Amino acid sequence: MNSQEFRRRGNEMVEYICQYLETLEDRKVTPSVEPGYLRHLLPDEAPYHGEDWDRIMEDVESKIMPGVTHWQHPRFHAYFPSGNSFPSILGDMLSDGIGCIGFSWAASPACTELETIVLDWLGRAIGLPDDFLALKAGSKGGGVIQTSASECVLVTMLAARAQAIKHLKQQHPFVEEGHLLSKLMAYCSKEAHSCVEKAAMICFVKLRILEPDSKCSLRGNTLTKAMEEDELQGLVPFFVSTTLGTTGSCSFDALEEIGVALQRFPGVWLHVDAAYAGNAFICPELKYLLKGIEYADSFNTNPNKWLLTNFDCSTLWVRDRIRLTSALVVDPLYLKHGYSDAAIDYRHWGVPLSRRFRSLKLWFVLRSYGISGLQNYIRHHIELAKRFEQLVNKDKRFEICNEVKLGLVCFRLIGSDKLNEKFLSGINASAKIHMVPASVNDQYVIRFCAVAQNATEDDIG
Ligand SMILES: *Cc1c(COP(=O)(O)O)cnc(C)c1O
Repeated sequence: MNSQEFRRRGNEMVEYICQYLETLEDRKVTPSVEPGYLRHLLPDEAPYHGEDWDRIMEDVESKIMPGVTHWQHPRFHAYFPSGNSFPSILGDMLSDGIGCIGFSWAASPACTELETIVLDWLGRAIGLPDDFLALKAGSKGGGVIQTSASECVLVTMLAARAQAIKHLKQQHPFVEEGHLLSKLMAYCSKEAHSCVEKAAMICFVKLRILEPDSKCSLRGNTLTKAMEEDELQGLVPFFVSTTLGTTGSCSFDALEEIGVALQRFPGVWLHVDAAYAGNAFICPELKYLLKGIEYADSFNTNPNKWLLTNFDCSTLWVRDRIRLTSALVVDPLYLKHGYSDAAIDYRHWGVPLSRRFRSLKLWFVLRSYGISGLQNYIRHHIELAKRFEQLVNKDKRFEICNEVKLGLVCFRLIGSDKLNEKFLSGINASAKIHMVPASVNDQYVIRFCAVAQNATEDDIG
């Protein structure tokens, strides 16, 4: 394909995308295909001779679309939103066009500098303390875009682990690192995302999963009691992952209480995972949910969930970037450059070396909607969720199972878990609306999330 044809096909693709999004409602939300469906429809080998573009696009509609779950559908209410908007799509297009790999400042200065600036913008808008911003005079903090919240949790745990081992090594210079590692203990609530457990597996550290209170909130006392018990056993608490807006029921750990309690445990890294809810903190009336952030060492949220930005765009801020990168720095000669000391090299902030120009789409979104536009978007989703909550409350057969603070409503039919399972699988089998279950306080509940950018009350009623 030459640029002449790309120009034409690009225009056609934009048209196809607009058509797709404008007529989404006419499609079923979920596909009705069996595993392996596509194998029967496509050849066993890649074509030896290049094919005509029209033929390829025909297959998109006839073979791919029948197997697509339409996450942007107005009646898709499963999981959390998958951020999407036209400015964001255009940002990814431009990033692909530029096609740079911004692993160091020198590898593409704008790629690094825009990321730092945009993360400062967003961090400030969310209400993070100045210590987390990179461009504040004397600040040691800063933000970075990762692929996913799971990666944010992993790299902060890696950093906390490196810090803890370094500290223990100073106290016990003749004890092997492997032995010191076996003493480390991380903590999270039962309601935390499974990525914390995965991070602990990868880091090869123990993880103690704690019981939250009746509102699914991890409390300071529960945490410190567990940490004290473990210390008596000779273990070393080193990392706590709290959640603001849990995946199951959008509950909030008692961050401030935990932060205060951790003052007695200096050196323990406090992470805040706010993958979904963090985006909502751009609204002044919701900033109270961030209370206690001043005690945290790191914070992550996913604009690719609830801030109209396409996957992947998971933002992480740390209070001390040296503590983060000291766990991740390797420095071969071919990656060194003349400004290594003066500039940020994001390759030291995560696992991969190569990185896309992801800040472009976030920059486009922040500029074209403005903070006020994004606030309105968040508020609209919260209104839809409250409306749905009202409707459920009016019907005596149902009960609400969470405190609806943001865009997620958990509800169930009054009756057994079995009954609710049957009810939900009936709904999902219709393919007209899609929701997923969760377990809240050991009960089977159905999650309803406001998801589509322009969903209206009619989509709820
Ligand atoms: C969605 C979610 C995650 C996982 O996000 P990925 O970006 O898919 O890794 C982690 N934590 C919470 C609280 C979430 O809601």
